[in-house]
Amino acid sequence: MRSLIDELARMPGIGARSAERLAFYILKSESPDALRLAEAIRSVKENLHHCADCYNLSDSTLCALCADPKRDHTRVLVVEQPKDLIALELTGMYKGLYHVLMGRLSPLDGIAPGDLTIAQLLRRIDDPKPDAPRIEEIILGLNPTVEGDGTALYLAGELRTRRVSVSRLARGLPTGGMLEYANKAVLADAIQGRQSVE
Ligand SMILES: [Zn+2]
Repeated sequence: MRSLIDELARMPGIGARSAERLAFYILKSESPDALRLAEAIRSVKENLHHCADCYNLSDSTLCALCADPKRDHTRVLVVEQPKDLIALELTGMYKGLYHVLMGRLSPLDGIAPGDLTIAQLLRRIDDPKPDAPRIEEIILGLNPTVEGDGTALYLAGELRTRRVSVSRLARGLPTGGMLEYANKAVLADAIQGRQSVE
C-alpha cells in the first residue's frame, strides 16, 4: 500500500492527500477494474513508440495522421511535444501533418539542435520519400516562451535557404503560456491567424 501511494504521489499534480485517496480507491475497487488499470499502464509503455516520420506517439511505424491520405501532406506544423499536437488536433482546424521536436533548444540546460529531431525535419523537407509530395509550408507551433522563441528563430534560420514558406502561430497565446493549456478557440485562432516569418 505504501509503495502504491508513493508511486501515485510522484505523478504531476497529485499531492500526498490525492495519492492516498487514489490508493484507497484502487484498494476498494473490484479486482478486474484495478487490473485493467495496471494492464493499460503496461500496454502504453510496451506498445507505444514514436512515428518514424513525425515522432508523434504511435503504436505502429507511422502514426494515424501520417498514414492518412486525406491529410494535407504539403503542410507541417512543428511542435515541441506530442501533448501540443494533441491540443492542436482537438481544435479540428488543422488538416496538415506535424513534426514533434521532442523538446526545445535550451542552451542553459545543454539542449542543442542535435538533441531534438531538427535534422529529421530538414530531411523530410530536403529529401521527401518517393511517394510523398514536397513540403510547401512549415508552421512553427512552439510555445511562446524564451526557449520556444529561440527554437523558432533557429528553425527559421535553417529554413530560410529552403523552398518552403515559414509561418508561426499567431500570438493569441499569452506570452509564457503553454499550448497544451490554451483553450480550443484560442488555438484555432492561432492556427488561422498564423503569420509569415521573414
Ligand atoms: Zn506521424
